[in-house]
Amino acid sequence: MLRSIQFLGSYSGLFFHRLKLHGNHQALSFISLSSSRTPLLTSSRTPLCFHQFRASSIGSESNPDVASSSSSSPSSATFRPSGTSRRINFCQLCGGPTKHEIPDGEEKERAICTLCGKIAYENPKMVVGCLIEHDNSILLCKRKIQPSYGLWTLPAGYMEIGESATEGAIRETWEEAGAKVEIISPFAQLDIPLIGQTYIIFLAKLMTPHFSPGPESSECRLFALDDIPYESLSFSSMLVTLKLYIEDIKVGKPKFHYGIINKRPGTSPSDIHAYTLDYHLRS
Ligand SMILES: [Zn+2]
Repeated sequence: MLRSIQFLGSYSGLFFHRLKLHGNHQALSFISLSSSRTPLLTSSRTPLCFHQFRASSIGSESNPDVASSSSSSPSSATFRPSGTSRRINFCQLCGGPTKHEIPDGEEKERAICTLCGKIAYENPKMVVGCLIEHDNSILLCKRKIQPSYGLWTLPAGYMEIGESATEGAIRETWEEAGAKVEIISPFAQLDIPLIGQTYIIFLAKLMTPHFSPGPESSECRLFALDDIPYESLSFSSMLVTLKLYIEDIKVGKPKFHYGIINKRPGTSPSDIHAYTLDYHLRS
């Protein structure tokens, strides 16, 4: 089932900890998202504890060497090989020319304004979305925009400043699928270091059985789990999310997943099947 996903957790020198929610993955839950834009997080009986880990094997992959787009479409970036920095030639604050040096006390080369001295720090972007369950089916949207025009995706997009991840996921779902949803639980956090993106996908349910394509979608449709269009999905992150979900459903209830999606070297960004899922942790 998961033949295209490689679960790697045995690197030499890697401190690999399995995420454990102490017997009840619903210890972390959301309530009453339907009546307010302010999500309420219930207190956990046992704190969710992520053990920090670090491995030298991912050091070179942790640089978001991406020409990040400001559009709402995830995975639209072109990127340079890992280890190089994006070329920022002008200061975003004053417009002055930049120089590329390692600032004092730091380790990575940055673009530094030669006029005002502002250092351009680039950080990963957060993509949030919903995996909507309805009558044993999943709601997918067919993209009407590039990249991945005509391919299917979960409703998802870049988080905006000033909103929470849950608010962003609900907003994106409304914008792309015309669906009002209630968040049930977090389902997956998937990091894609190569392009500087982190996906947070929530399980959600329809508040009303209505949906319709928004401006970025040509069609929205409920797919039975056996009919997921794996060959027509938009992004590796969506493929991973759906495979993990269906795998969970086959053996019980959805868990919470963390993983790093690494593109296989030498493969095309458009080949969404050419990846490995590394450091896969699950509740
Ligand atoms: Zn400047």
